[in-house]
Amino acid sequence: MLATMKIEEFPAIWYQAANCGGCSISIFNSVSPGIENILIDEIIPGKHINLRFHTTIMAAEGNAAVRLLENSKKANEDNYILIVEGAIPTAKNGTYGTTVNKDGKRVPMATQLQSLAQDASVIIALGTCAAFGGIAAAQPNPTGCMGVDQFLNARRITTPLINVPGCPPHPDWFTGTIASLLLYGPPKPEELDEYKRPKTFYNKPIHENCPRRAYFEEGKFATSFGELGCLNELGCKGPVTYADCPLRKWNNGINWCIGAGSPCISCCEPGFPDLVSPFYQKLNATSLPL
Ligand code: SF4
Ligand code: SF4
Repeated sequence: MLATMKIEEFPAIWYQAANCGGCSISIFNSVSPGIENILIDEIIPGKHINLRFHTTIMAAEGNAAVRLLENSKKANEDNYILIVEGAIPTAKNGTYGTTVNKDGKRVPMATQLQSLAQDASVIIALGTCAAFGGIAAAQPNPTGCMGVDQFLNARRITTPLINVPGCPPHPDWFTGTIASLLLYGPPKPEELDEYKRPKTFYNKPIHENCPRRAYFEEGKFATSFGELGCLNELGCKGPVTYADCPLRKWNNGINWCIGAGSPCISCCEPGFPDLVSPFYQKLNATSLPL
């Protein structure tokens, strides 16, 4: 008789705040493992993510969806993974961002997120908007959008946080972070960098492993798109951007930004997009590594 292995369930709530949906789409495009493996199968043998709530892909809507969110939170207090996609609008008591109506009143995302964050076992801020504010918090930021870390600090919420930035984030960065959580629990401080990003994925500057690096060293710079050469003159922010894109590549390892002739626009860094704009303007020489 075959022994039956007990499967450990990890409930997860995926909360979409001020976002474009791109982070979800990027993760759903994961190839190995595919999103069906992540959501239905055991991502680690004997361990399974139980995604309880995701507004884009769930069947429930309206009051049924609100009830599902509340029930999932109540039933799994201090035991669910909270995945946040998008920044949190906080201006005017969060009035610019609401997802649900309760008792005839619109509930601000900020109110919902505060409650969800307090009772989660760990939070993943997925994408640069959730991690650092990103596009949603770009100047002049009339909605007062901010990233999850800033939001939690302002409310003295101490739930462990992992930032998985990117505009959008690579699917491997998400699945790798989830797999590590299931295997080992929340990361130790030394496993995250100063911006709470897993060092496994965000440890080295793009510039360090860039296939155009030899051109940079030789002083051969492209002056228009499509030319061979380092893309520094065309605004590449690879020297100040930490991610493993040159090694991992995108679309199941097919290509990546610089491979396709586009400068890195620093989509994983806290300064994106304001501090790295204009995207196609040469980086200040003082930002280059020695
Ligand atoms: S500046 Fe950009 S294109 Fe040039 S070597 Fe560095 S990362 Fe590659
Ligand atoms: S190469 Fe740069 S802009 Fe492109 S995905 Fe990686 S970090 Fe983002």
